[in-house]
Amino acid sequence: MDFRRLTVEDCLRLPREEREKLVSLSLETIERLDPKIKAFISVNGNVSFRREGEFWGVPISIKDNILTLGMRTTCASKILENYESVFDATVVKKLKEKGFAIVGKVNLDEFAMGSSTERSAFFVTRNPWDLERVPGGSSGGSAASVAAGMVVASLGSDTGGSVRQPAAFCGVVGFKPTYGLVSRYGLVAFASSLDQIGPITKTVRDAAILMSVIAGRDPNDATTVERKVDFLSGIEDGVSGMRFAVPEEIYEHELEKGVAEAFEESLRLLERLGARVERVRLPHLKYSVATYYIIAPAEASSNLARYDGVKYGLRLKGTGLRETYMKTRNVGFGEEVTRRIMIGTFTLSAAYYEAYFNKAQRVRKKIASELNDVLSEYDAILTPTSPVTAFKIGEIKDPLTYYLMDIFTIPANLAGLPAISVPFGFSNGLPVGVQIMGRRFEDGKVLRIARAIEKHSPYNEDGRFPLPEVEA
Ligand code: GLN
Repeated sequence: MDFRRLTVEDCLRLPREEREKLVSLSLETIERLDPKIKAFISVNGNVSFRREGEFWGVPISIKDNILTLGMRTTCASKILENYESVFDATVVKKLKEKGFAIVGKVNLDEFAMGSSTERSAFFVTRNPWDLERVPGGSSGGSAASVAAGMVVASLGSDTGGSVRQPAAFCGVVGFKPTYGLVSRYGLVAFASSLDQIGPITKTVRDAAILMSVIAGRDPNDATTVERKVDFLSGIEDGVSGMRFAVPEEIYEHELEKGVAEAFEESLRLLERLGARVERVRLPHLKYSVATYYIIAPAEASSNLARYDGVKYGLRLKGTGLRETYMKTRNVGFGEEVTRRIMIGTFTLSAAYYEAYFNKAQRVRKKIASELNDVLSEYDAILTPTSPVTAFKIGEIKDPLTYYLMDIFTIPANLAGLPAISVPFGFSNGLPVGVQIMGRRFEDGKVLRIARAIEKHSPYNEDGRFPLPEVEA
């Protein structure tokens, strides 16, 4: 048994004696490889799990902005460095009930604001394909821990691409569900109208399996919906007869050559499998980054007001309340988080509310209706997940360049649509992700399309996208 390659499905087929060993194999692999990868903020050396439940003993990592009892939840921020929650997030509770073993909490950009884990207040996570490069973000620790084979799967969160983009950079699968399918109770809020928890896995089937565990209405999250979605049953049915839309506008962005080539090749594959691929226009696509970078910081500035040095988390006492607030927040928040809070506070201020926040809300509506119009005619919209592959640590310094890379992932969040990144091909030896965006609540179909690409990909080894060799 090569632990590093195991999927959730593989684990289920193991005899009891082998299954018993999974957690220690995971902990050993973490001990061996994580000094290089640096995905883990906390490791649970004596993790307990139920020996009942379908998934007993399957080791999984959790992004460190999702609350877990008995371990810290830091959000990779100094302001929550020593914070331990008093309850489990709903998704964590559900995983534990099914027997999953939570072996550790993994790195992210502080409060999930970023695309590289370089914005973590603690350390940068490395891409298992090339240790000089970022794993993507903000769920970079999740993607790297899965790609390096230290855990079987992971949960991340996706506000503007944070599950899909790191999955693409690390050559694994990342799925952002329809907004409202998965409870956000116990997910530390960044931008509540966009945040959604999603799985990062080695296969599309594993993503569907994890979705069946974590999805569902939760009385603790009023935005969850009562809706039964079948993630798994049609997943092998293929794409024959389906119609896919490719927005012309993607070619107006600077696409890395190898990314464009891999993407075109995936389109030809889908055509060979009996689907039709057509070009469409999405004229409002180009406003999605600007819209997101108004709405997300606005919501963040309000959500992050609770870290004030009084209620919980870091406290640096000043003379008087105001000084305590200022000292605590000055030291507790990193540069990117501060930037977002300032942008958000500005766009929500009385003088600019109409010009920025309200306008952005209207553009958001337009983008959503444009996407929904296209999706009323097509089964899915296809794009590369990211215009680039994993970049070098420290390579991108300008925030605008950094923000612009989110162009293909942000629209699904603005419109609440399900979207997946599935690995397909390489550009200069680094994995490329293809993104499939579907209709609201057609998460099952999105997974099915991704599964068809995965199943027939010419890049597979033993029927799966390869994992990198990380030498110890
Ligand atoms: N990169 C985007 C940002 O910095 C998205 C982050 C996310 O999805 N959490 O906000």
